[in-house]
Amino acid sequence: MIYLDYNATAPTDPRVIEAMRTYFAELYANPSSIHTPGQKAKQAVEHSREVLANFLNARPEEVYFTSGGTEADNLAIKGLAFAQDKRKKIIYSSIEHHAVMNTCKYMSKFGYEIISVPVDRYGVVDLNFIEEKTDEDTLIISVMHANNEVGTIQPIREIAQIAHKYGAVFHTDAVQTVGKIDIDIMELEVDMLSLSGHKFYGPKGVGALIVKKGIKFDALLHGGHHERNHRAGTENVPGIVGLAKACELAQAEIPDEEKRLKELRDRLWQGLNSQISEIQLNGHPEKRLANTLNFSVKYVEGESLILSLNAESICASTGSACSSGSLEPSHVLLAMGIPAEIAHGSLRFSLGRWTKPEEIEKVIDVLPGIVEKLRQMSPLYKK
Ligand SMILES: *Cc1c(COP(=O)(O)O)cnc(C)c1O
Repeated sequence: MIYLDYNATAPTDPRVIEAMRTYFAELYANPSSIHTPGQKAKQAVEHSREVLANFLNARPEEVYFTSGGTEADNLAIKGLAFAQDKRKKIIYSSIEHHAVMNTCKYMSKFGYEIISVPVDRYGVVDLNFIEEKTDEDTLIISVMHANNEVGTIQPIREIAQIAHKYGAVFHTDAVQTVGKIDIDIMELEVDMLSLSGHKFYGPKGVGALIVKKGIKFDALLHGGHHERNHRAGTENVPGIVGLAKACELAQAEIPDEEKRLKELRDRLWQGLNSQISEIQLNGHPEKRLANTLNFSVKYVEGESLILSLNAESICASTGSACSSGSLEPSHVLLAMGIPAEIAHGSLRFSLGRWTKPEEIEKVIDVLPGIVEKLRQMSPLYKK
């Protein structure tokens, strides 16, 4: 099998699984227990917190463990809103992941004005629009660090600076960048940052929200005093240990891996673009994740491409979210101004730690034939 869907989820690194094993089999005690095994589990959690903090240039007390990226995004936006009643405006980008977008939309139920920021054809947010809309009534600006579908990287620091001019909080969903590019939250001037373990070779079901000291936010889950009263529930100790291990591995590997993946990704695009007519790259040509390739193939459906690739044991993804039988083109591609019929023919390859050059060559070998076959069946295609 050729797995090229790393932005959906990455396989857990065997070294991560090994690090976690002890915390299932032996050190399974509850970190809240005062006996020795309990205290050892607690030490593992606190050590992991230090590893994450060090990885992102945050402080350990700024790390709040969650069940993943979705919870971290919810905690940032709702937690901040529930802790205050002055500011009534929420600004987010039109290409956010559903975890942010639907959380913001939900907040309109509580009287919040929600404003969606447009992007250009490469998927970069309109800074002038943000500058115009932000004011003293703005609670939070939430703009993702890099987009999961097209990989475009946003001017995070510039947006944070606009937020800070008006005393608003800046949150970034960095689920697609943590572990892929070096992140320093001080340098980016980010107030809140979401991350998720399973997108960078850690386990599923664990993530974190980083919150700069001094920012007040409420818990969404009430119960015990875990995570300094901000997230009740017995800590997912194996998950947290695995998440920290994934950070350590990434820290050591990021520079070489970024270079390696970019070369493979660019070879894939060059190989396909030279053989298939009428395809277009989606996302920013340079300011984009090194592992992500998204493009549209005219006259074919993305879903048909995925199924044909699947028959060749190649796992890729489409930008369109196919839910309950209705085919809605990707909100990200539509926001970028790509016409619906072209957005429907989009395909995403996302590469990762175990992607080999032979696998890329195999895709270059089979995809042109698949496209030709599907086009021959399309009434829109004239040769
Ligand atoms: C995957 C993803 C999420 C959700 O993270 P989970 O840990 O799966 O809940 C949020 N934002 C982005 C950009 C993602 O890619």
